[in-house]
Formats: sequence, structure tokens, C-alpha cells
Amino acid sequence: MEKIAIVLRKSETENKFREVILGAFKQDGFVDIHICSGFFQERGKYFASNCFIANAAKISCKRNVNTVGVYNGIWKGDFDSFVAGLRKIKCSCGTPLNVIKRKIKRYHWHAKIFIASDSNGPQLGVIGSSNITSRAFGLTTAWNFEADVILWNDSNNEHWVQSTQSGRSVDLVSR
Ligand SMILES: [Zn+2]
Repeated sequence: MEKIAIVLRKSETENKFREVILGAFKQDGFVDIHICSGFFQERGKYFASNCFIANAAKISCKRNVNTVGVYNGIWKGDFDSFVAGLRKIKCSCGTPLNVIKRKIKRYHWHAKIFIASDSNGPQLGVIGSSNITSRAFGLTTAWNFEADVILWNDSNNEHWVQSTQSGRSVDLVSR
């Protein structure tokens, strides 16, 4: 059964957007992942790619990661750096993670979409307001009130429980 939750971030420490995305990224079973954002922050003290590197799946040689951006030329370098960071990830067999980079010609990409698919198709989706930035994706004192829609296939509950790390899907839905 398909489920949906709309999450408003209300604190520095709890970030469902981050938790769900990194939880999904960590799972071996997701062979196709889309990460689309207007902004991928790779500057100052914050490099979003490090969060993904720290939460890489052990087995990723069958995975394709599709990235789409970016809002403007100022953020193009960050997007390039984010993709380069993800390309450092290696499967336990030594094969580098396949990361596809798509940039639209005229910029102004503003859609925030994350989709994780296994061999049966999409199982988990997130549609933001959140970008992959420190204020939206991080756990810092400077954070935004972001609203994100999370959709998942509850019949494939194993994936979801792993994605939330603590299996708090019911808790999340009831809020
Ligand atoms: Zn491998």
C-alpha cells in the first residue's frame, strides 16, 4: 500500500528529509536513485557529498545515481563538486559508483525530488521544499522551516523501516 506523509521541520535536531534520504542511500537494494535539487551545497564548512559518502551502501556496483540540477551559474561549481564527491564512492568489490550528472542548459532547475527504486520500481520518494544545502539537509543551528512530502510503498516495509533507521513510520504518519 502506498503511503504519504507531509513533514514540516520544526527543530534543529530532527530532520526527516535528511534521515529518509540518507537511510535510503545506505541500502543495497535500491539500484536506481534520483537526486534532483536547485542547490547542492559544497562550500564553506558544508559539503553535502560527505554525508552521502558517510552513508554509502556496501554494495553499489549495480546502482545508478541520477543527479539533476542546478539553479544558476553560482551553484554550478557546487553541483560539479557534489557529483565528483559521489563518484569517489566504491562498491565493496571496488567498482566506482555510477553517477550520472544532468544539468539543464538554461539553469533555473528548482525541483527538489528524491526517488529510490529497487528492481520492482520506485519504492520511496521525497518532494521538497528542501534542497541539498546545509540549512535544509544539515543539522546545523542555522536551519530552515522546510516542508517535504514523503511517499513510500508500505508493502515493502523492510525498505522503509531501514530508511527511517528506527522504524518510526507510524509515528511519522500520525503527526
Ligand atoms: Zn560490487
